[in-house]
Amino acid sequence: MRLELTETQALIRNTARTFARERVAPGARDRDRSGHFPAELLLEMAELGLLGVNVPAEYGGAEAGAISYALAMMEIAEACASTAVAMAVTNMCAELITAFGTEEQKRKYVTRLTSGQAVAGAFALSEPQAGSDASALETRAERTRDGWALNGSKQWITSGDKAGVIVVWARSGGPGAGGLSAFIVEGGTRGLVPGRHEDKMGLRASTTVPLQFEDCRLPADALLGQEGQGFRLAMMALDGGRIGIASQACGVARAALAAAVRYTRERKVFGKSVADFQAKSVTRLAINSHVFMR
Ligand SMILES: Cc1cc2nc3c(=O)[nH]c(=O)nc-3n(C[C@H](O)[C@H](O)[C@H](O)COP(=O)(O)OP(=O)(O)OC[C@H]3O[C@@H](n4cnc5c(N)ncnc54)[C@H](O)[C@@H]3O)c2cc1C
Repeated sequence: MRLELTETQALIRNTARTFARERVAPGARDRDRSGHFPAELLLEMAELGLLGVNVPAEYGGAEAGAISYALAMMEIAEACASTAVAMAVTNMCAELITAFGTEEQKRKYVTRLTSGQAVAGAFALSEPQAGSDASALETRAERTRDGWALNGSKQWITSGDKAGVIVVWARSGGPGAGGLSAFIVEGGTRGLVPGRHEDKMGLRASTTVPLQFEDCRLPADALLGQEGQGFRLAMMALDGGRIGIASQACGVARAALAAAVRYTRERKVFGKSVADFQAKSVTRLAINSHVFMR
């Protein structure tokens, strides 16, 4: 079993690490306080291939695989969890459209995502009454003479007010999972109305918004995959999404552990620092595990 990184994986990890330390970490605290969305950073990340790590080069991706994606995500998340979330959802949309889009959709939308032209991607599945139970969603997609009309509301959509490309799930058929279809909606489309930012406890530089669809008209070719295939697309996208979010959690844990270790090294109690205590202490264990996690 091969345990070391390939050349490509090491390159992506090192690129993301340098970028995270030099460009992402310095403003992370301020962005979190002010809620400033990291649009400028995402554009720079696009140039480094970080918005399509697991996407073929012909659509602007780095074509570096899922392990490279996880490594890059950990580095960015260690510096700023908010930037990592926007990166994760953009990668997720790019991968989903690559997997299920027509050649025209891939050329048009995946390249916009990977190049940063779309600013970010968004994934609009959840609704007030449909979180874990995604098959219960109520947003309607009705056929019109020349395409589709969406009506309904989404909730907690990451980058929903910033994204130039949004994958939206809606019910085009009957009840249950088989009635769902997925659509590609461009940010700024008439009838798509983003709501107020959720004021979260953390991840505050990542926007989380409701989206209202009020007779939002889409062309016929906005359908992603086959009609009625939406639930399958959502579950497949979430499988990839879990890799992104788990990697993000590892990056955040690494940053938290590093901060705790720094603090215990500088702190003195009863006139002694941690270095004065013997190896049995819990703190020493934490330091050791920090070294191990690197
Ligand atoms: C910061 C943030 C960003 C988000 N970004 C997006 C986004 O970009 N796009 C998007 O579509 N959604 C997004 N979401 C929504 C997120 O995906 C939902 O919160 C999630 O699907 C859970 O839905 P819910 O909150 O309604 O919880 P519920 O579905 O009500 O679940 C509540 C609890 O019950 C548990 N539970 C649910 N069903 C069962 C069951 N059958 N058996 C046992 N336990 C169960 C769950 O595990 C959970 O602990 C975001 C949420 C947050 C907080």
